[in-house]
Amino acid sequence: MNSAELDTWREAAAIAGHVREYVASLMKPGAKLIDLSLEGHRRIEELGGKPAFPLQISVNHIAAHYCAYVGDESVLAENDLVKVDCGVHVDGYVADTARTVDLSKDGRHAHFIAAAKGALEAAIETAGPGVDVVEIGREVDRVIRSHGLNPVRNLTGHGVGRWIIHRSPQIPNVPSGRGRLKAGTCVAIEPFATDGPGLIHEEGDAHVFMAKKTAKKVKGSDPAVLDAVRAFGGLPFGSRDLLLHHPYDAVADTLNALMRANQLMVYPPLCEKPGTFVAQFEHTIYVHDDGVEVLTANTEPSRKPAEAATRN
Ligand code: MN
Ligand code: MN
Repeated sequence: MNSAELDTWREAAAIAGHVREYVASLMKPGAKLIDLSLEGHRRIEELGGKPAFPLQISVNHIAAHYCAYVGDESVLAENDLVKVDCGVHVDGYVADTARTVDLSKDGRHAHFIAAAKGALEAAIETAGPGVDVVEIGREVDRVIRSHGLNPVRNLTGHGVGRWIIHRSPQIPNVPSGRGRLKAGTCVAIEPFATDGPGLIHEEGDAHVFMAKKTAKKVKGSDPAVLDAVRAFGGLPFGSRDLLLHHPYDAVADTLNALMRANQLMVYPPLCEKPGTFVAQFEHTIYVHDDGVEVLTANTEPSRKPAEAATRN
């Protein structure tokens, strides 16, 4: 990767880091998930980025992939344990980052936060060029268990690429898998800590989709919606991203037509056992020849809002 590419990646990551913290700062009992999500998107674009996937806010036993939808009445409540997962791209360079917020007054979820955050720190400490992903998983597993919790073993971190949100290697949260970190690549590391069994399953209606940017015209699809789908460039999008700009029937017909033609991936929420809690922390790192750089630790994008507007 050349230095201009890395700088673009750093910029996407700083926007993602900024918006992760910004949305976390807006979380309070009574806040609507859809409002927080749309405000996050607004801020991403104001800073000169684009969502690399719809901003996700997942509460309590929902580990990931809860995507608030148009008309979603879900609100945050006191004692919720809330994950914000934010993906940003600039010119296709994808950064992926998440954190967890404890909405209890008595800090009852502090050990979840300490476990997932500590595991991410330990994983980053272990990471470097040539490092076996099994060793990263071993550290994540060790730290989370030291807090009396379980790692979620069927969720993993992943490589990220240009216009690619998930690529090899997978970064496990337990000592398993195969692959090594390669210099010159970016990976997202994302430990999940839970008091449940540590296994998630798909549950509920999907509001996250993905189609190739070359998605073919299929019978029953609406041309304007199909163009909008292709414009995501092969990255995931939310039903809300389409419904805010296109009529319901056109969106539903197009998504159904793409699904029938096997041109649409569908991502429902990923849930632990009801009544349990899950915490997640995630950073995107760049692997240098001699160490790693935590790209999404930066929360100060260099492009000011006004500057971003003139450059678009
Ligand atoms: Mn993420
Ligand atoms: Mn990720």
